[in-house]
Amino acid sequence: MAAFGSVFMPKMALATFANNNWSESSLVSSDSIQLHPGAHVLHYSSTCFEGLKAFRHEDGSVHVFRMEQNIKRLAQSSRLLFLPEIDEAQTSKMILDAVAEFATDVPEPPGSMYIRPTHVGTEAAVGKAAAPSATSLLYVLLSPVGDYFTGGAKALRLLLDETGMRCAPHMGMIKSGGNYASALGPIAKAKEEVQADQILFCPNGDVQETGAANFLLIDGNEIITKGLDSSFLHGVTRSSILTLAADMGMTVSERDITVDELLERAAKPGVEAVLSGTAAVLTSVGTFIHNEKEYKVGSGEPGPVADKLRQALNDIQWGKAEDKHGWLTKVV
Ligand SMILES: *Cc1c(COP(=O)(O)O)cnc(C)c1O
Repeated sequence: MAAFGSVFMPKMALATFANNNWSESSLVSSDSIQLHPGAHVLHYSSTCFEGLKAFRHEDGSVHVFRMEQNIKRLAQSSRLLFLPEIDEAQTSKMILDAVAEFATDVPEPPGSMYIRPTHVGTEAAVGKAAAPSATSLLYVLLSPVGDYFTGGAKALRLLLDETGMRCAPHMGMIKSGGNYASALGPIAKAKEEVQADQILFCPNGDVQETGAANFLLIDGNEIITKGLDSSFLHGVTRSSILTLAADMGMTVSERDITVDELLERAAKPGVEAVLSGTAAVLTSVGTFIHNEKEYKVGSGEPGPVADKLRQALNDIQWGKAEDKHGWLTKVV
């Protein structure tokens, strides 16, 4: 099967910002965009994006999951990058228009339609290294995706990195391209040197997140994850999982965790650690690598609480459980 996110629907929704106004959005061919080689985004990385999904239910209806949250985050990312302010109502319409156009192409669970809104600075101005782009382009690209875990889920190996950082501290809560480029070198090195799947960035011992997913620790009836601050990306999956954990009667602790506490707790039987994100929902962590030593997390295998939480979230997304929190927007 094609790699996650490498197949696209032939059309996307697109709008441009110029002269202090957004154009009407329209559905256009998704195989190319036209950009001046001097476009701000290509030189100074004025770019941010979102990732959300539409799901097909058994009755054939199609629903987008927590769209408002993703639009709010795109607005926040745009603001923090000094890109033009997005029109949230228009962005919502663009997402719904695009998904409606390809509603019959939305795969059945465990597949879904991955939705990638993207906002980039387009002004041709290489002299604007320290000034924002006055013009921009917003588009919503669609990619049908299958089961993220074809071939079975395996527990990940994470390198705990206390000296490096994923990105500059003031960029943490912006979903912006440069942050991923910034983390690529360290991750490539960790793969090569200690066969880690990901790095869990823990600057000065403060457990933050991996290159593209949030981190949560499950110890008995308690789920622990870093409280929201500007240093890391505020995942919608993180927030959904915490809500469902509280619904199940678990204790939700949003607070700082140190590497010392993490390693101490990981040694206890039954402890689980997971990464959360839209693409895979929850992925179990089996091993921490720290100062050349390896530490098993609980049994070292995917655990039952992670399965239960993933199932609870999937059940809502797939229309098999009541959408008590109003997370779904019906498209068709
Ligand atoms: C997108 C992303 C996440 C996960 O966010 P979701 O809204 O749950 O998909 C976490 N960390 C980073 C750095 C991300 O880019």
